[in-house]
Amino acid sequence: HEQYKTSDEKTKELEKIKKDLEEKNRGIELSSKYKSEFLANMSHELRTPLNSMLILSQILSENGEGNLTEKQIEYALTIHSSGSDLLDLINDILDLSKIESGKIDIYPEQVLLNDVKSFVERQFNPVARQKGLNFKITLAEDAPKIIFTDDQRLKQILKNLLSNAFKFTQKGSVELRLSKGREDVRSKIVFSVVDTGIGIPRSKQQDIFEAFFQGDGTTSRKYGGTGLGLSITRELSQLLGGYVTIESVEGRGSTFSLHIPDYYELSEIQQSVMEEV
Ligand code: ADP
Repeated sequence: HEQYKTSDEKTKELEKIKKDLEEKNRGIELSSKYKSEFLANMSHELRTPLNSMLILSQILSENGEGNLTEKQIEYALTIHSSGSDLLDLINDILDLSKIESGKIDIYPEQVLLNDVKSFVERQFNPVARQKGLNFKITLAEDAPKIIFTDDQRLKQILKNLLSNAFKFTQKGSVELRLSKGREDVRSKIVFSVVDTGIGIPRSKQQDIFEAFFQGDGTTSRKYGGTGLGLSITRELSQLLGGYVTIESVEGRGSTFSLHIPDYYELSEIQQSVMEEV
């Protein structure tokens, strides 16, 4: 039957297919827009009640009135720590949906690397002590002392990488090394997070950057987490103009390196390339 169709019929059929496809694409675009909006709204609605749970359970755990039993204080602490895990998850989902819908802005400013160092020490010295791990931060002689980038986002990436390093390391050390970047323009400075933890098999080294991917089922049960940290990290590093690399040997440890450019230098280079073209 197909071969008896006139060319006019065929054109009409093709046009119909094209129209259907266009409609379908519009549908997909709309539903992904609605999905992002839904996630953003939900996250906001969930955070408000959660915040009051967190504040009140904290007050209870401090036992201001002095009439709680030890067991009751322990329950209040558990509510507080489960609540903060939930808050982390909600913040991750919100971040990812904002990134996906292009709603994250970068605010470059002058960042002193010594300040970043103090921030990281404040955040992770207690974790290192608690886990009995050796934690050190080294600044190479030739590493830049100042960089123009988004301070908040840089710290968020380092927090993600360091939390993973501490989570997946049971003995040995975690180190943050700041060094001079490579020759390429996207790498003015490198932050390497080096651990002596469980490592990642080569076959999984790319998958771990996908949203919701976790090393394996047993890993996620044993170590907790959501599988969102590294995909957020990768997206954010790209927003800063840089990238993340990984080197890891199973059973030996991992090194995640964040390369970032000086935001303004990168913009100038991009500008001049655009002009040449
Ligand atoms: P989460 O840590 O919440 O599971 P991530 O996206 O941060 O999610 O990491 C994804 C997976 O990558 C982890 O579940 C783990 O299997 C693996 N991974 C990440 N960092 C490390 C590390 N430093 N050492 C070993 N495995 C890691």
